[in-house]
Amino acid sequence: MRKLTIIFILLMCFLFGLTLPYLFESYGPFIKNHVMGNGNQDIEDVSSEPEEKKVNDIVVKKEKIDFEQLLKKAKNQFYDSKYKESINTYIELYKSGYDRISAAKNIIAVSNYLSEESSQASSLLSNMYDDYQDSIEYNYYYAEYLYKNGDKISAEELFFHLLILLEQQDSDLSDRKKALTYYYLGDIYLNSDRENVALDFFLKGIGHEKEIVLNYTAAAKVYKSKEKYEQAISMYKTCLNQDHSMSSLYYELAVLYEKTEEILKAYNYWQRCINSGIKTDIAQQHINDIRENYPQYFEREETEEKNVFKVDWYDIIEIEPNTIFRKLKIGLQENINKLNFQSQNDFIIKYDNNIIFEGNKDTRYQINFSDNTFYIFQNGEIKKSISPDQTLKISSTNKNNLFALYNIKFGQNYFWGGVENRQYRGDIHLQPITTETVNLINYIDLSSYLLSVVPSEIYASWPQESLKAQSVVARSYIINNLNRHKNEGYDLCADVHCIVYSGVKNEHPNTNAAILATKNEVITHQGNVIDAVFSNNSGGYTEASQYVWGNSYDYLKAVNISESMDYQLPLSPHLIEEWFVEKPPSYSDNKYTINSTYRWIKSVNLEALKSRHGLQDIRGVYITDRTDIGTVKEIKIEGQNKKVVSRDSSIRRDLTGLKSNKFIIKNIYDGNKLEKIIIFGAGWGHSVGMDQTAAAGMAVKDKSYRDIINYFYLDTEITKLE
Ligand SMILES: [Zn+2]
Repeated sequence: MRKLTIIFILLMCFLFGLTLPYLFESYGPFIKNHVMGNGNQDIEDVSSEPEEKKVNDIVVKKEKIDFEQLLKKAKNQFYDSKYKESINTYIELYKSGYDRISAAKNIIAVSNYLSEESSQASSLLSNMYDDYQDSIEYNYYYAEYLYKNGDKISAEELFFHLLILLEQQDSDLSDRKKALTYYYLGDIYLNSDRENVALDFFLKGIGHEKEIVLNYTAAAKVYKSKEKYEQAISMYKTCLNQDHSMSSLYYELAVLYEKTEEILKAYNYWQRCINSGIKTDIAQQHINDIRENYPQYFEREETEEKNVFKVDWYDIIEIEPNTIFRKLKIGLQENINKLNFQSQNDFIIKYDNNIIFEGNKDTRYQINFSDNTFYIFQNGEIKKSISPDQTLKISSTNKNNLFALYNIKFGQNYFWGGVENRQYRGDIHLQPITTETVNLINYIDLSSYLLSVVPSEIYASWPQESLKAQSVVARSYIINNLNRHKNEGYDLCADVHCIVYSGVKNEHPNTNAAILATKNEVITHQGNVIDAVFSNNSGGYTEASQYVWGNSYDYLKAVNISESMDYQLPLSPHLIEEWFVEKPPSYSDNKYTINSTYRWIKSVNLEALKSRHGLQDIRGVYITDRTDIGTVKEIKIEGQNKKVVSRDSSIRRDLTGLKSNKFIIKNIYDGNKLEKIIIFGAGWGHSVGMDQTAAAGMAVKDKSYRDIINYFYLDTEITKLE
């Protein structure tokens, strides 16, 4: 009996000794809630082996091996982009008696960064499976490893075994991983022409977790091939609803609506293809065909076009213009050659400080610019022409006047881009750039400008304190960035590059109130107005400015937005994967979070990737540099004929449109051939400064706009402009 007690105590010492280094790199509640099998399973496995011998082994090893040191080394090698070395250190850890599952998970995670499979790692993982085949956790990670590396037959077997284990055991897998398991299985079945079972798996995946959009697109593909077009449409539309950025689905939907003979809907999606730059040649051809074959649908639209100049003026609040910043110059369009507009009140056009034209309210005007000459048309008739080297200035004496401008392009190169008619406060200037083109510039005071930009940048329905925070942030950002487009002859552009500005249509009582309540308040650091950058969603951790733009600012450092602060970065390679695949709780994930921004998944279109980079074939895409916060600094796209390296802000575009630079990549092979690339990402935008979604999340938890601002911009004050 006494002997048993001693063995028990020794065993506990051994278990504690074994688990300690593992706990050291884990982050408690996140692991517990989101990653199954937190080491307990390893303890059970180990304890089934002869106890005394094992205890002695460990006692001997504990003297020699410093796990903590090795873990640190492996992690440093990983962040130094020495991936082979990092894998080798994790292998060393594994062989030294460190928690085997933990070591294996890191080996698997780092293998995603290598363009060649490590045979040592592969055989280790395979041998390990003999001991851990009843571990749900190990089955999942190892099956996924085999699936990625092209061994679909073994992967299928393991995924199936995993499903059986899930039925039998109490321990569980997160819903997101279950949905992925069904997706991987479905994909294996689809590739071997077993469509019906594949579809069944995809639907099961959807049942577990709607955010794993891969299941929707895969199910839609099966429905389409079975000629069940309505179901396919429904899958794609749900998918778009989950993730608005998946504009490549416009093409699929256009094709499907032609199949179901819903011609106007097809036309609408072809139009969206053109707006988003997707297969525009094909889309234009279809639009022409539809217009020719179904003229009856377009009669109404053409008469509407004729009446396009009837304006419903927005009902806006009257405010006093800001006296400190009276005239901001906002670039609305560059290099245009005509402008159609109307004014709500009578107006004048000035040239070289002389009034050259007086215009009437509610009347259609057009100004053309050609051969260095302005032509002013009223109701289609030329009224005036003038040859400039100067700017044409259109203004009204009514200080709350609106101008309606037609066909304003916005969001160029973005999926949400388009053309629309918009109304603006302030004056309108046409500034000659070449002999044939002018820039369209809105002259407006800071207060009026804020009424429009604040609700363009944040939802007016969000909590009032987050709107106030956004007002102060936007005011500071604007003042700090007034020189951004100096060379183009204005202060700020109207797009994402500077700050989205779409005229008065977005003005809203809630944001109006927030702007007026924080009148003239700005954020300062050591007495200077700060560059108060912000982004929609940081994924739970903001990034320091120097890792995004190269400039270091004391007030723009990385900030953890985890509500419970239960993890700190840098994470181990495996925990980075978990961070991206799962959804750790944070202020950035709340009821205001837009679908698929906190966490998102993208299957990269390989054809688009090839044509973008002039590659005949792609072997894989690899992350080659990552910051401690998780931001990807560099990737390598490896083709048969050449390698393409992309860095920093180019990466998102070079991978055919990602929401952020925070992601992991999984190259999926079939045998030796790259079959697809799946990217798991976090956040939307650059992640520096205020995370707007988290600001809303904090406001819900009773934080004031001052708390929010101080949280994101370190060592700053809120000061009134004078
Ligand atoms: Zn700009």
